[in-house]
Amino acid sequence: MIPYSKQSINAKDKEAVAEVLGSPWLTQGPKVPEFEESLAESFQVNHAIACSSGTSALQLAYAAIGVDADSVGIVPAITFAATANAFRYLGAEVRFCDVGQEDGLIDLNSLEKVMSSIRDGNKTGTRVVSPVSLAGKISPLEDIYNLCQKYGFRVVEDASHSPGAFSTNTAGDKEFSGSCKWTDAATVSFHPVKHICCGEGGAILTNSRNLSQRAGLLRSHGITRDTEHSKERPWYYEQIDLGWNFRLNDIQAALGIEQLSRLGASIQSRHILAQRYDNAFSSNSFTGKLERPPCVDGHAWHLYVIRFMEAGMRDEAYHFLKSREIITQVHYIPLYRHPYHASGYTENDFPGAETYFNQCLSIPMHPELTQDEQEKVISSLNEFLN
Ligand SMILES: *Cc1c(COP(=O)(O)O)cnc(C)c1O
Repeated sequence: MIPYSKQSINAKDKEAVAEVLGSPWLTQGPKVPEFEESLAESFQVNHAIACSSGTSALQLAYAAIGVDADSVGIVPAITFAATANAFRYLGAEVRFCDVGQEDGLIDLNSLEKVMSSIRDGNKTGTRVVSPVSLAGKISPLEDIYNLCQKYGFRVVEDASHSPGAFSTNTAGDKEFSGSCKWTDAATVSFHPVKHICCGEGGAILTNSRNLSQRAGLLRSHGITRDTEHSKERPWYYEQIDLGWNFRLNDIQAALGIEQLSRLGASIQSRHILAQRYDNAFSSNSFTGKLERPPCVDGHAWHLYVIRFMEAGMRDEAYHFLKSREIITQVHYIPLYRHPYHASGYTENDFPGAETYFNQCLSIPMHPELTQDEQEKVISSLNEFLN
């Protein structure tokens, strides 16, 4: 079977994990802060707070920014459920906005419509937009920031798909996903299908000292050792807020440190794979039937998403490829189609998301994919279409 994605583990990863297992600390030892420092350096932010998953990173980021039951969060209709669920854990309302039918990224016109309808609504708490840099293509963060200034929203980028992704601004400078130039915070996931694997894990990235301290406090029960009594009584601590146990452990952090050191190489392998797919799919046997993903310079290629132009073809392709032992996936079912999130929406509200959803298929893309395997994916698609 050729999976659409998988982790890439080498001997140094195993050695780093084994070393922690033989050390005095399995959790909350030196590896977590070391990983956080490397993350902050790699994403070019002042603070990185490692935590137990990408989902808990979103929950901590939203909570630290002040999201509560009086809040509302806007999420693109095409994303993993966690982007929206993390608002719901805090009692906030979730509103969906439409996406571009070609890349699944937040549609600015739809976003502005949703924002202005909320302005006239009754939610008085912190308002947040969570753009998702889907598949590894960075969201239009500066434009989103400008709308957020106009309508009084904060911004948390869900950068789970996009470590290393960038856009180039009008001055010619690269602006990286997760660097928080236009956002209050960003979150990443270290699930095995993502760029950096910790088994499970995540992090909040921010340039705000205040946000970083709050996220750090809530990550571990809301307990602090930084009190006026702690000097004479080193065992003393106080719970000053209601937090969770969302900590990452040293075993996971040791793996993360090794993985992060190979992020550049991983993205480079993904670029080579994307280029090969691109060359193959630009030939006559594919044109008109299969659309390639938009190829931009700073794409981080978490997923390679092709689109089938003819109705029903995507599902047929899924089954055909599976019969050839090639596992593909649909990223994602629009959130308003899930029974839990459905209330108040119809499919007509999201023409972009509906089109994207009906056409998209993520084909194998990960650094361990061999050239032979990739040739098999390409020739199987060719066989299917012709
Ligand atoms: C993977 C992912 C998450 C959640 O990450 P976990 O580490 O699995 O909790 C959130 N948002 C998006 C877009 C993701 O792809």
